[in-house]
Amino acid sequence: MSQSLKGKTALITGSTSGIGLAYAKALAGGGVNVVINGFGDADAIEKERLGLEALGGAKALYSGHDLTKPDQIEAMMQEAASAFGGVDILINNAGMQHVAPVEDFPVDKWNLIIALNLTSAFHTSRLAIPYMKSKKWGRIIQTASAHSLTASPFKSAYVTAKHGLAGFTKTLALELATFGVTANCISPGYVWTPLVENQIPDTMKARGMTREQVMNDVLLAGQPTKQFVTVEQVAAMALYLCGDAAANITGANMSIDGGWTAQ
Ligand code: NAD
Repeated sequence: MSQSLKGKTALITGSTSGIGLAYAKALAGGGVNVVINGFGDADAIEKERLGLEALGGAKALYSGHDLTKPDQIEAMMQEAASAFGGVDILINNAGMQHVAPVEDFPVDKWNLIIALNLTSAFHTSRLAIPYMKSKKWGRIIQTASAHSLTASPFKSAYVTAKHGLAGFTKTLALELATFGVTANCISPGYVWTPLVENQIPDTMKARGMTREQVMNDVLLAGQPTKQFVTVEQVAAMALYLCGDAAANITGANMSIDGGWTAQ
């Protein structure tokens, strides 16, 4: 961890579970103040929040707003600004999935996935950029996906949102290049988190498969290493992107997918 991250503030969307929580742990462990966001059981979230503060002695704030709603994103950014004076590191990570053929894809699910997986990153970015520009330093990291580079059937909204996120990130990189602010995507393959576990029943239904067939023939079929990526491996990439060594990495899409998109 770069010394220079101590005392900075990171806002990580969708960080009450899975990959987001791993980012929060990695950054908090290095003395970075963290704003965590997402849904879940209040007691469990408070326990995680206290755990984050114990890791590196920095502050952890929970902001439980719904990121499909722009006014709630504005409220979250206000809370971050009141507590810490702004945001230095923004990690757009909140995301959801729905698996169905295009002709059966529920319209409300399409709208929700685009709002959460894509549009929320526009709102958090537009609100965080002024703080970063004023300090001439910032990091914007998106949890994109192998699905920002390639497609799978039955995941139309998700694939559309993630490809959009990758394009948005390249635009951010160009606009912010002279302000000391980098913008990059991290694109994992299958990481074992609740998001992956929860899509197994729908994939079983859509493809007429057993749970084991979904695990081996769908999820890990395209991942040549035949291993799930770990949340810690994804968080380590984010820490690297935040450091000085990555100051000239911008507009990149960093794959951590066991070779999936090499095929
Ligand atoms: P997860 O389900 O464990 O976490 C999702 C987080 O988003 C949770 O904290 C949840 O509460 C939060 N969230 C959901 N709806 C929200 C809303 N409306 N407002 C605010 N927060 C909300 O999932 P994960 O696997 O850790 O996924 C995190 C990110 O990683 C997602 O963007 C996902 O697309 C991406 N990703 C995951 C994988 C994988 O295999 N798990 C692979 C590639 C990319």
